[in-house]
Amino acid sequence: MTCDDARSRLDALLDGELSPSDAAAVQQHLGECSACARAFEELRAASHWLREGLVHYQAPDVLKASIQRALREQQTAARPRRTVVRWLMLAAAGVAIAVASSAITYAVARRGSRSASVAGEVLASHIRSLMPGHLIDVASNDTHNVKPWFDGRVNLSPAVPPLDSANFVLVGGRLDYVDSHAAAVVVYRRRQHVINVYSWPESGADEATRQTSSNGYHLVYWRRAGIEYWAASDLNPAELAQFVALYARAGP
Ligand SMILES: [Zn+2]
Repeated sequence: MTCDDARSRLDALLDGELSPSDAAAVQQHLGECSACARAFEELRAASHWLREGLVHYQAPDVLKASIQRALREQQTAARPRRTVVRWLMLAAAGVAIAVASSAITYAVARRGSRSASVAGEVLASHIRSLMPGHLIDVASNDTHNVKPWFDGRVNLSPAVPPLDSANFVLVGGRLDYVDSHAAAVVVYRRRQHVINVYSWPESGADEATRQTSSNGYHLVYWRRAGIEYWAASDLNPAELAQFVALYARAGP
């Protein structure tokens, strides 16, 4: 079996639509060809994102519209098959993450390789969170619903201050995994801009806020009382700084 033969059957393999002998032939090729095996893993991951989006979560209309628009702009005239849509979503996310991550990495390289790689992971996670089904595990604009949700799920109790009066609307929270940490993520919104606030315990001295930007995304890092924080958004830097000041003031 050639690589082209295998690639054309990956989607059907994923969906269990191949005959047993065809499936075995593709599986054998995947066992021998790391490039096709990697392609299959990426397809599986993309499919997983899409499935989660369909099952668990209705994206806010603004987000849904922007994702649909992005997909529409990339579509060719013909109505794409399911595989094409999957690859488009994967490609769109992958390219955005790769481009933005490398720039972020460059921007914070002076702070050492660890910070650079954490910034890249936070940014990748932020972009991933904007795909359907990834933004929130607990959806609520009530602090008293969101804060207790983290109990027993992460080993810190993140600050979840109500900031509606400053026009930063609480959307909910989720768990994420960044830099080998289970991270608490508290999600806010201003207009159509999502703000993800990541936090996890990290020993070391307090550090003042530092901002870095890349491709329209902005990250603010700070550390206080043994907790490392990252806020990520495409909100403009001035408003994001205002948000961080309010959020950090409410922290433990
Ligand atoms: Zn191959």
